[in-house]
Amino acid sequence: MSLAQRADRGPDPVVHGSPCSVSILLRTLPPDESAALQQMLDDAGWSASAIHDAVTAEGYSVGRQTITKHRRSACRCRRSSPYLRPTSP
Ligand SMILES: [Zn+2]
Repeated sequence: MSLAQRADRGPDPVVHGSPCSVSILLRTLPPDESAALQQMLDDAGWSASAIHDAVTAEGYSVGRQTITKHRRSACRCRRSSPYLRPTSP
């Protein structure tokens, strides 16, 4: 890649800190599973405990508190990165 191409493309996004375990799981799950988890996170009918139980039953490990924080956009990935999708109100 030339400097001219880099200049046209713009700088790489700067992400401070690392994403939370929920965000990491969303990125590493197969697309259909990731979509299902995102659907649970977006659905207020799913409590953090219920999501935690479902995720754990499938063999994954995320903290219950992290689920709550991620939903509230209070987790470290939401605070640190403007590139992640914000949760709906
Ligand atoms: Zn998060």
